[in-house]
Amino acid sequence: MRFEFQPIGLCRSPYTDKFGIPRQPRLVTAAEARIELLAPYDREEAFAGLEGFSHVWLLFVFHQDCLEAGWRAQVRPPRLGGRDKVGVFASRSPYRPNPIGISAVAQHGLERQGKGQGKGLALRIAGADLLDGTPILDIKPYVPYADAIADAEGGFANTPPQARFQVGFSEDAQRQLAEQDADGRLRLRALIEEVIAQDPRPGYMDRYPERRVFVLQLYALEIHWWIDGERALVTRVHPVQP
Ligand code: SAM
Repeated sequence: MRFEFQPIGLCRSPYTDKFGIPRQPRLVTAAEARIELLAPYDREEAFAGLEGFSHVWLLFVFHQDCLEAGWRAQVRPPRLGGRDKVGVFASRSPYRPNPIGISAVAQHGLERQGKGQGKGLALRIAGADLLDGTPILDIKPYVPYADAIADAEGGFANTPPQARFQVGFSEDAQRQLAEQDADGRLRLRALIEEVIAQDPRPGYMDRYPERRVFVLQLYALEIHWWIDGERALVTRVHPVQP
């Protein structure tokens, strides 16, 4: 059996690079994104009734690297420090036989950029864990009575990951932040804080040289930071060099 699916839309998110993307949805709530719908799905009528639902399920393709890389029967989840192995079907790894992801995210309604049918219809969402440009296969309402299971067991991921660092900004970084997000529309400060607080460093590396500088990319900006004990210090926020 073979199946062929076309995306119904593309996710536009702040995450323009894989490093720093949270490992599950809603861990970084300041991440505002949208699903830009592709024809013929860019029709308001296809979303009639969705306004009553606060959250939606996104089904999407892990399109970057995962299709070419293929899958392995066992993976090392970051949640287990990137050392211990579990079966791929006991994990949420992007490297799976069919590299399809699922994320439940908040939805904030439709917006239209241009005028008329077929002109830039998008669904606004928040808290996604999707790379910018991710192809979306489907959108479904999150139905609490069916989807939220109060007594479910979460295996090796039974509790939510805790924020690991307090995030501070150098004076230079604060000035650059103010320049890059003058009207606060990107919620850049909160976004950087939440992303770094989660500790995006790969789990399998537990030793780093002191004051090693890490570079994250959000939107078209590079964020430089390093770790100092329980704190992370952001030292630069500047446009990605072409
Ligand atoms: N919530 C989804 C799930 O459970 O199916 C995704 C979980 S997966 C562990 C999240 C990671 O997938 C992110 O941290 C990022 O590294 C990766 N990712 C997100 N979008 C991707 C894409 N379009 N292509 C490849 N990897 C992606």
